[in-house]
Amino acid sequence: MNALSRLFPRRWAALALTLLIGAGLAVALPGCTTNPVTGRSQLMLVSENQAIDASRTAYVEMLAPAREEGRVDADPEMTARVQRITERVVAQAVKYRPETADWEWEIRVIEAPDTVNAFAMAGGKMAIYSGIIEQLELTDDELAQIIGHEIAHALSAHTAEKMSVALASNLAVAGYAMTGDRSPVALTGAALGAALAVQLPHSRRMEAEADRIGIELAARAGYDPDAAASLWRKMAEQANGRHPVFLSTHPAPESRQRDLTRMADEFRPLYEQARGSSVPTHPVN
Ligand SMILES: [Zn+2]
Repeated sequence: MNALSRLFPRRWAALALTLLIGAGLAVALPGCTTNPVTGRSQLMLVSENQAIDASRTAYVEMLAPAREEGRVDADPEMTARVQRITERVVAQAVKYRPETADWEWEIRVIEAPDTVNAFAMAGGKMAIYSGIIEQLELTDDELAQIIGHEIAHALSAHTAEKMSVALASNLAVAGYAMTGDRSPVALTGAALGAALAVQLPHSRRMEAEADRIGIELAARAGYDPDAAASLWRKMAEQANGRHPVFLSTHPAPESRQRDLTRMADEFRPLYEQARGSSVPTHPVN
């Protein structure tokens, strides 16, 4: 992610994405499909399964530099905490979309104290940076909100949608050729497209979807919905002076605080109910 950010300024990312997806995929006839969770109509030139395949490859390569430096899951306690929360929230995600029980859900904690970020790719491949946990001093409830939000992006096929939008909006200007020395050599075609999609901002609409689905999943998993508003407040405060990567890819809808507070009231009964019972888990690698 960081290496990719240096290699690809964002203004080039969408264009590069176009070229690389185009090169790597046999693009199907343009079409819209219905969001599997919200029912919203989405532009899907790249199918969810294509995005999942591309993301699987990209995820391994994106984590490779950190893995070589021993920065993946380096802190056993933090890793276990993230894993435990994720398994509870994923169990709720699978109830939303039963076919996602077959996904290879995975989350890795990347040791990077200065990086306030987390991301999800198609098929439930996720990563969270130690900086977001430590700098924001996240409680379990707040951590569950981030994980729920990322899981919601995955559930809603937002990677495939971002790849599709980039493809559609830049097809006409596909004259720019990537030079060899700017390309991360290990990734090509659709896999590089999926890696670049992680860097592109979600739309406000995607953010609103992920906020709503995420807070509900977390509530059903037994995590306090009030933590959603406190998480984003901390994020905004931390942003003073510096701009967390997380906020550039997850732009805040203007009404986010107000909406989250309202949703917390709406989902509190689910949280109370979950707290009074044993919460299921779903295996996560
Ligand atoms: Zn988001």
